[in-house]
Amino acid sequence: MAWYQIDVDEIFKTLRASEEGLLNEAAEARLAQYGPNRLAEEEKISRLKILIHQFTSPLIYILLIAAVVTAFLGEHIDTGVILAVVLLNAVIGYIQEYKAEESVRSLKKMVVPKARVLRGGKEKEIQSERLVPGDIVLLSSGAKVPADLRLFRAAELNVDEAMLTGESLPVAKATEAIPAERLTPGDQVNMAFMGTVVVSGRGRGIVVETGAKTILGTIAQEVREAGVVRAPLQEKIGQFAKAIGLIVLAASGLLFLIGILIGEKIDTMFMTAVAAAVAAIPEGLPIVVTITLAIGVARMARRNAIIRNLPAVETLGGTTVIGSDKTGTLTRNEMTVRLAYDGTHTYELTGTGYAPRGEILQDGLPIEAGPLNHLRPVLRIGLLCSESDLYEENGEYKIDGDPTEGALIVAAMKGGLDPTQERERYPLVAMIPFESELGYMATLHRRENRKFIFAKGAPERILDMCAGAGAARGEIMKIADQFAAEGLRVLAMASREAPPDQETLTHDHLASGLLFAGLQGMIDPPRPEAVQAVARCRKAGIRTVMITGDHAVTARAIAKQIGIVEEGAEVLGGKALEAMDDEALFQKVKGVSVYARVAPQHKLRIVQQLIRHGEIVAVTGDGVNDAPALKAAHIGIAMGKSGTDVAREAADMVLTDDNFASIAHAVEEGRVVFDNIRKVTFFLIPTGVAAILSILGAVLIGVPIPYVPAQLLWINVVTNGLQDVALAFEPGEQGVIDRPPRNPKEGIMSRLLKERTVLVGLIISAGIIYRFIETLNDGASLEKARSVAVTTMVFFQFFQAWNSRSETESIFRIPLMSNPFLFYSLIAAFFAQLAVLYVPAFQWVFRTVPLTLTDWLEIAGTAAVVIVAVEIDKWLRRRKGGDDLLQPVPL
Ligand code: ADP
Ligand code: MG
Repeated sequence: MAWYQIDVDEIFKTLRASEEGLLNEAAEARLAQYGPNRLAEEEKISRLKILIHQFTSPLIYILLIAAVVTAFLGEHIDTGVILAVVLLNAVIGYIQEYKAEESVRSLKKMVVPKARVLRGGKEKEIQSERLVPGDIVLLSSGAKVPADLRLFRAAELNVDEAMLTGESLPVAKATEAIPAERLTPGDQVNMAFMGTVVVSGRGRGIVVETGAKTILGTIAQEVREAGVVRAPLQEKIGQFAKAIGLIVLAASGLLFLIGILIGEKIDTMFMTAVAAAVAAIPEGLPIVVTITLAIGVARMARRNAIIRNLPAVETLGGTTVIGSDKTGTLTRNEMTVRLAYDGTHTYELTGTGYAPRGEILQDGLPIEAGPLNHLRPVLRIGLLCSESDLYEENGEYKIDGDPTEGALIVAAMKGGLDPTQERERYPLVAMIPFESELGYMATLHRRENRKFIFAKGAPERILDMCAGAGAARGEIMKIADQFAAEGLRVLAMASREAPPDQETLTHDHLASGLLFAGLQGMIDPPRPEAVQAVARCRKAGIRTVMITGDHAVTARAIAKQIGIVEEGAEVLGGKALEAMDDEALFQKVKGVSVYARVAPQHKLRIVQQLIRHGEIVAVTGDGVNDAPALKAAHIGIAMGKSGTDVAREAADMVLTDDNFASIAHAVEEGRVVFDNIRKVTFFLIPTGVAAILSILGAVLIGVPIPYVPAQLLWINVVTNGLQDVALAFEPGEQGVIDRPPRNPKEGIMSRLLKERTVLVGLIISAGIIYRFIETLNDGASLEKARSVAVTTMVFFQFFQAWNSRSETESIFRIPLMSNPFLFYSLIAAFFAQLAVLYVPAFQWVFRTVPLTLTDWLEIAGTAAVVIVAVEIDKWLRRRKGGDDLLQPVPL
């Protein structure tokens, strides 16, 4: 017999389980027996593939050709050097790429799938991997089913099984056994299958199969996570590096021709051109970009933002609008009922937090028993029409479930109702759980021989169900608005008696005929850090937009407290939004910063219209139906604590603390990442240009070429290779968050970068040629002059690496050790150069000779010119006014 054919009680017996769930020890034992609940093992990083990759770049081809040519010419030292460079290059590239790949992978591991289970009667969250047959799993809207379950409770439970069955409509689930033979999974409506998604309702099921034994496991052994996607930035940089590479090749070819025309020897010119090309091609750039992104990801994780895919890191820095949920993200989601209304009177509730201590006041005085008779039903509905619980832990009161419902439980207790007693007197029979789209929830209760329906939710929705409320409706809504104007979240309560034989609850039962009971209004104070973050965002040119399911008046009051809008700002409601076409909405989104009573599909439309304005949009979401908006936005942000699996999977970033402030931090880190990639380019491109220019200059002037090819190759691999990576570790410059977002169309090669490339390229090549000629004029040997030239080049690179730490800020204002990596990489490069000059074996290979103290001083002095020049350039630009610095022209 298949699981769906068997009665649940039978299954409990077979699997030695109960509705209370397994005990932890039993579950551990089963885990050892059945193995972890996961599909196929993850693919290992292929070391071989990465290694092979190191030998498949144009740069390597050039080098290999050069090796063959030199071998033919009998230049065995050169051949050796070239092969050594190829090897060293491969080793460095391999290490870098492996590290980068590893950190990209660990991204995926940061968000592990979790499941809500009952273990020993207690609800808790465990890693889905640890589920075993017999576990009881709790399902609610937005959850991904973590294993194959036989359901034994289902309230409005609808599951999307498209990924398994191809059926696009959600399937309504039931709990009774089905006798039919050989049903396809799609027809087994009392089962919930691994990988499918709960779109609405609640349910409970017992795990019957895990891991590879599940339907998903059997039909989809090959289902694996899609491979690592490359960020558009990585693509862009890859192309950029290729383009530069081609230019460099052309330039080297030209160099070769000019050299020959001027009368240099062909083989010398060939090797020189090759070496120049190798020195100038920014082959380190793409991999350094990946490393920079990975560093950004790690930094963001430390600030409670987990990036799910690499492209988000880059995009984040350019964010111009953040669309944020209100409840829980901008506010603390710690609700306390402050005001209540019973149809005639308004009452105040005292006390703070979830501690059920406080009084109910009328006109400032504790109320008598009499009036409480009217308020009691309001409080009772709030208490019983609920899925949540209040519990005490170490003297602190906490909510298991929804904070909104927690507040109502606490209010009821302040009114003298005892939760346990009440639940015994009114046992729950059926339920329609709360969904944001619905705006209300309802329950069916037994009371001795009678049945009652309780409903609570947004006042408009509840009043729609109260047929007789017509006359009073206006009055009630006025009170509700008064509550909302104080920033309170308002819920209405209503009830009616049901036929004694009613056992189920559907929306039809709620269509009309309910009796309005009253209102409760609760505060949910803004998060202080969110208030600061909103202000910081504003300074950074980022607009914060509040998108909430709450009432317009409540939303405006809170938005004002948080500093999102000023007094009297326009609030766009879901109804009005519904009535607008895209064009009208397009006009609106520019000015409106608060959206109230919106449903998830509205959120999607808001995001789409903002994007049409050219904004870079980040948006938060937690429910199932938020997924489309999360995907449509440039950055979808899901809540790690309160969000659903579906939202998390659709998101680019997950907040571990659900806090708006963490979004602001992530944006800041995103900017740092982009800056650092620029810094690496500022270093690599101008120094590469200088290598070619200096050779060309020497050839044109008619002096010998200032380096032997081996020297250039050495510089390229050792000094460059160390420093570009170090720049990826730069901490953020001061004020990254105080400037406007970068122009979304802006590429890496800003005008500033181009101009500075020319400036620096000219200074470096001139400086090298100058030192080279000076040394020759002093009567030194060619070897000596070349040793000087190469050392000058190395020093210029040191200084340009420092220059690159900021585009416009003086390097003397950046603390030396704020990037220790750079400092140590410079020291290492310096020692490498010392070795070249003083170790005999290296002297032989690189044809170098030792330098005198005067040489060293002259070299350092000459190279320092590049610092002075760039400092002056930075100063001029700062003085000209920051604005055009911040908005460089597109590539
Ligand atoms: P948000 O999370 O954006 O603040 P929700 O969609 O959760 O908005 O809530 C919208 C409205 O639904 C609230 O203003 C409130 O009136 C009502 N509501 C919220 N939570 C519940 C609940 N648990 N049960 C019944 N009604 C609720
Ligand atoms: Mg909510």
